Amino acid sequence: MPASSSSSKLEQRPNSNSQNRNIVVLAGGVGGAKLADGVAQIVPPDNLTVIVNSGDDFQHLGLTICPDLDTVVYTLAGIENPETGWGRAGETWRIMAEVGRLGGPEWFKLGDLDLATHLVRSQLLATGHSLTEVTQTLCNKFGIEISVLPMCDQPAPTMIATDQGLMPFQTWFVEQKWQPAVREVVLPDVISTAQVVSCLENADLILIAPSNPFVSIDPILNAYPIRSMLADLAELVVAVSPIIAGEAVKGPAAKMMGEMGMRVSSAAIAQYYGDLIDVFVFDRRDSALLNQEGSLNSLITFQTDTLMNNRQDRRRLAQEILNLAMELLNS
Ligand code: GDP
Repeated sequence: MPASSSSSKLEQRPNSNSQNRNIVVLAGGVGGAKLADGVAQIVPPDNLTVIVNSGDDFQHLGLTICPDLDTVVYTLAGIENPETGWGRAGETWRIMAEVGRLGGPEWFKLGDLDLATHLVRSQLLATGHSLTEVTQTLCNKFGIEISVLPMCDQPAPTMIATDQGLMPFQTWFVEQKWQPAVREVVLPDVISTAQVVSCLENADLILIAPSNPFVSIDPILNAYPIRSMLADLAELVVAVSPIIAGEAVKGPAAKMMGEMGMRVSSAAIAQYYGDLIDVFVFDRRDSALLNQEGSLNSLITFQTDTLMNNRQDRRRLAQEILNLAMELLNS
């Protein structure tokens, strides 16, 4: 297999038979949700599962908040807020303003519509439903037919070890605006769910979305036995780089790489995923750098435009990846 494929050829190939293959997307928030939406525009709902990071989840104002699950659900439902990258479009902020007036915490913004999700989820969790069940209920209410699964049902709080001490993920990410320099991401030992295990067992293709590898993808992989299933099963694993032109499209991925002693590049992301992946998709703006850094020997690489500015971009990128994957699966 050549080390690098040209996107122009792949764009011309027929759709192949991704319709019959079971596809799993591993997703954090924004980057993951956009790719998941691209795949959802192509693949029948019964053949697509999105496994979502729940390491960002936390308790706030007495409610269980699941930022990445909500970003994925809102994006798949077409009701996400494109300006913020979180929350819902057309939000109002009356409750938050009143929370502030009453002396409550305002650092984590929750819109009025968004709060309804957290209220219903928290109520269902309190009456004994699992996070998997609650997510299914919310998906049904938002008209989402594909399966969206949290990586696990038990709390799995990601902690960030920084130069200012150890702190919960949302304290670092939102309250401190990801400014304290990261030394290490600390993940708890958690066990995934029967639903996740079953969908991975039946997967033909696993897509690691262009999400933050350290705080979105690693928590998913760390939920036992997800990492070992990706390593041991025969399915094809494709990762998409979250780095474009040597920078993160959004958020702290590039800053974290530098602080943790990595080169800030797509090649470093590929090396970080290592043997876990078979194919690495990166942006054509990084091709010179990737060639210079080399050492991706056994990996199949594919370069294209990976920036997803709109729904058409999401679909195009997903289609190119699916075409390549179907060709590899059928060869
Ligand atoms: P978060 O939990 O909302 O931060 O979401 P993710 O971890 O899923 O997404 C954040 C990562 O997605 C960042 O590292 C971004 O660089 C990457 N990202 C966001 N949009 C795009 C895009 O359109 N293309 C690519 N390649 N990466 C993206």
